[in-house]
Amino acid sequence: SLMITDECINCDVCEPECPNQAISQGPEIYEIDPNRCTECVGHYDTPQCQEVCPVDCIPHDPDNVETREVLLVKYEKLQAA
Ligand code: SF4
Ligand code: SF4
Repeated sequence: SLMITDECINCDVCEPECPNQAISQGPEIYEIDPNRCTECVGHYDTPQCQEVCPVDCIPHDPDNVETREVLLVKYEKLQAA
């Protein structure tokens, strides 16, 4: 999944762009729920939140590296839920 770093300026631009409702406002900055982030696999060719973030603070989470296959399974589970 992707993650939001503490460079986030709480602009709220990313949240409505997420096709999986994985982004929400946390206590200090916006957060990504790793259980819902498919890196946009299944929906788009590129991560939509990364495309719109004005400060480029949404990198891949080095502690949560997932293959395309794993992301696709997550996408299918979310669709079925
Ligand atoms: Fe949502 Fe896609 Fe960003 Fe993950 S990469 S948080 S699924 S917009
Ligand atoms: Fe934070 Fe970037 Fe999302 Fe704005 S678009 S709320 S700066 S992560």
